[in-house]
Amino acid sequence: MSRHRNVRGYNYDEDFDDDDVYGQSVDDDCCISPATANQFIYSRQDRQAPKEEPLEEDEEDVPMSPTISHSLDPLDQAKLYSCLDHMRTVLGDAVPDSVLTEAAIRCGFDPQKALDAVLSEDAKTAPVTRSTGEDTASVARVSQEKAPLPQRTKQEAVAEKAKSRDVAHNKLDSEVVPKVARMTVSGKKQTMGFDVPSTAENGVVAASVRRGGSPENGTATAASEAASKRPGTPSKGSNGEEPSTVPTPSRSAGKARQTINIKAELEKRQGGKPLLNLVVIGHVDAGKSTLMGHLLYLLGNVNKRTMHKYEQESKKAGKASFAYAWVLDETGEERDRGVTMDVGMTKFETNSKVVTLMDAPGHKDFIPNMITGAAQADVAVLVVDASRGEFEAGFEAGGQTREHALLVRSLGVTQLAVAVNKMDQVNWQQERFREIISKLGHFLKQAGFKESDVFYIPTSGLSGENLVTRSSVSQLTSWYSGSSLLEQIDVFKAPQRSVDKPFRLCVSDVFKDQGSGFCVTGKIEAGYIQTGERILAMPPNETCTVKGITLHDEALDWAAAGDHVSLTVTGMDIIKINVGCVFCDPKEPIRACTRFRARILLFNIEVPITQGFPVLLHYQTVSEPATIRKLVSVLHKSSGEVLKKKPKCLSKGMNAIVEIQTQRPVSLELYKDYKELGRFMLRYVGSTIAAGVVTEIKK
Ligand code: GDP
Repeated sequence: MSRHRNVRGYNYDEDFDDDDVYGQSVDDDCCISPATANQFIYSRQDRQAPKEEPLEEDEEDVPMSPTISHSLDPLDQAKLYSCLDHMRTVLGDAVPDSVLTEAAIRCGFDPQKALDAVLSEDAKTAPVTRSTGEDTASVARVSQEKAPLPQRTKQEAVAEKAKSRDVAHNKLDSEVVPKVARMTVSGKKQTMGFDVPSTAENGVVAASVRRGGSPENGTATAASEAASKRPGTPSKGSNGEEPSTVPTPSRSAGKARQTINIKAELEKRQGGKPLLNLVVIGHVDAGKSTLMGHLLYLLGNVNKRTMHKYEQESKKAGKASFAYAWVLDETGEERDRGVTMDVGMTKFETNSKVVTLMDAPGHKDFIPNMITGAAQADVAVLVVDASRGEFEAGFEAGGQTREHALLVRSLGVTQLAVAVNKMDQVNWQQERFREIISKLGHFLKQAGFKESDVFYIPTSGLSGENLVTRSSVSQLTSWYSGSSLLEQIDVFKAPQRSVDKPFRLCVSDVFKDQGSGFCVTGKIEAGYIQTGERILAMPPNETCTVKGITLHDEALDWAAAGDHVSLTVTGMDIIKINVGCVFCDPKEPIRACTRFRARILLFNIEVPITQGFPVLLHYQTVSEPATIRKLVSVLHKSSGEVLKKKPKCLSKGMNAIVEIQTQRPVSLELYKDYKELGRFMLRYVGSTIAAGVVTEIKK
């Protein structure tokens, strides 16, 4: 596609005076439809884990032949067959019947115990199902636990010490899987934006914000009356003029906020480990899901048994090479198609960070989902396929490598790790690695990444090389002695969060849970929140009380900027809230508007932009139809000096100030006040045509 060609010669550094640089157009032909599940921690299900009976205790037992089952009474026979069926659904035909029968009988027909017994035997006798050094160490750890120390090699012992916490996970307990939440839900109908009952002259939005099915009649007075009847609704402007677009601070601000020293509390939390939101991006099939799935496995976030199950299931489905990808690709459709569609979100820890991992879809059809993930990321891992021809396919026109890198940069990501993946396919050749670095390096610099903030790591997601620990493959170590992927993630700088600013949370999902009220999920962009506090939802201009806060499946009293949380709220009608709403501090609310001014950078657009040009505004989790209402001025790319006032049209590569009018009110912040909430992208017929920052909120 032609628009890609021009990118290479383009100096993005000049576009904005700070370090925010804007990206390139992106293909897409579906709409963004984000919705987030609220939990992303591992469900170790320890509670259900059967108490382990060490196998050694049973080892004195004389191995039983399968025929022994014939001597069982009918009830036990039935139990045995049921147990065997259960075991086969996990193990397939990989283990002989005699072994399964023996284990089933030994474990009193408890399928869980029997499975564990079989798998632990398996680990003892044939520990290597994957071929890497670390992996072997990890898989074999179960048996090593009981083996006398001197038999272990020094290397294994060191690896074991370094990853001693993995041992706990590798206990022969029940399934250990990372809880993967869907940040976006493909196919879920998009419910963004807010109905506007009428638009007065000059685009002033009339007083009420009418919601589907809501009885409000669209006049300010009626809205105000209706609102005042509802408990927990803030008062609206009494003269009927000023609408929901200017929020009224809540009169009843709920119980007084207990002052907590949020910075000190954050220090204490998670052992003082800062939080890092990481998005994994790259062309489809570059190996993103495999790489991260394998990393999670090596970290102990997936246990051997679950991995074995994925291996069997993927083998049965004729997709054996996707076993690790299945850790993150949760939905049936993703597995069937072998393509990540939604942003999967989970959590892992490094030595010094707690990382929220977002696995973004690579396919161009799902780029809107990828934008939602990227908008919430602090840092990114760009995965490229080192195989001959494949890197080129992802990098050249039509590939997503460039698009993704430009999009994340446009959305504020400055630190990037490039996993040069599938190095096993090119025999770990240094020459190939260098070739990729030089091609990518040049492009990434143009895209606005500082050279010192981009790190290249040769990896193999399939074999696990260089993911958690440094590789021991001699073909690689002969020329590479740098960090493993995990080490690099560990040294990324966690961003300064705006915890001192008033509370802001962008809603990415709304759902009814058990109990009173309902739940909203989203990322806290600024400030912090405590249970019992009242918060204001904008644009609906409705307040509610926070009854509960959940972070990583854990109920908390407070949460702060950077956290992906789920809030249980009461005192508000669920129908008022949509994906794209912003919850804020009622005393210092975010403004809602339908008109704002912005500085935009136009990408390689084919049709010049004129007054009235229709666009789709992508802003955090919002996707809202809008028009370019006024072309205010054309600016000099680097100095920002006005080159031309009231231009007739804008063409590709230009920097301009424009006025944008949205169909329905949206909640925005000025870029100078809240970087995260002041950035947006404009799209037109499936392409991203511009990136921008909000400079002035009109009405
Ligand atoms: P994604 O679309 O980027 O998430 O890619 P997947 O993780 O689904 O992987 C696509 C295919 O590439 C699968 O068949 C993987 O087994 C394979 N693959 C991933 N990583 C590697 C690797 O390091 N080496 C090799 N040889 N194949 C890999």
